Amino acid sequence: MKLLVFDADETLTTTASGKKFPESPTDKVLKFDPKILSNPNWYCMIASNQKGFHLGFKTKDFIEEEFNYLDEITHHVFNYFLVCPDDGTTVWIKKNQKKFISFGYKYDYTQFVDMNFLTECKSLIGTFRKPMPGMLYLAEKIARSIINQDEKITDKIFVGDMETDALAAQQAGFKFFYINEWLAINN
Ligand SMILES: [Mg+2]
Repeated sequence: MKLLVFDADETLTTTASGKKFPESPTDKVLKFDPKILSNPNWYCMIASNQKGFHLGFKTKDFIEEEFNYLDEITHHVFNYFLVCPDDGTTVWIKKNQKKFISFGYKYDYTQFVDMNFLTECKSLIGTFRKPMPGMLYLAEKIARSIINQDEKITDKIFVGDMETDALAAQQAGFKFFYINEWLAINN
């Protein structure tokens, strides 16, 4: 089993409007056919910085709708969405169309009945914003906890569009590809 984590903005999608920031949660087009992602040997996740929330450009509901839409247009191929909305102290964890659950300094254990392993991830709090490696460590932790124990993770790959993505991958021990490189190999 390969763990494949993708950045979102400008890696998987670009705005449909051509603007730098999306005008609405559905102002998004995929950069490639998501069919390439439906490989039974791949466990796919997303790790996205969304500092627009912290800066007041986007609300949490807006971001949640954006990821619901992304989940739809990629035909639910991503198992989990990890989003860092601030300087690294919080990560929002989302599975398909469910609501974000928030993991950070002020989190509530009772939210994580299915994710007891998060109690072992407290040392990652503060490191979630890329180029820090926390979201990728967390992605690996989630994948290892959820994938059938008989299946080993043979490869960890992060695909992005920015140097901050490359640095996060390097620190977390993931192989890194820029999206164009990755598409050239897999398309
Ligand atoms: Mg990006």
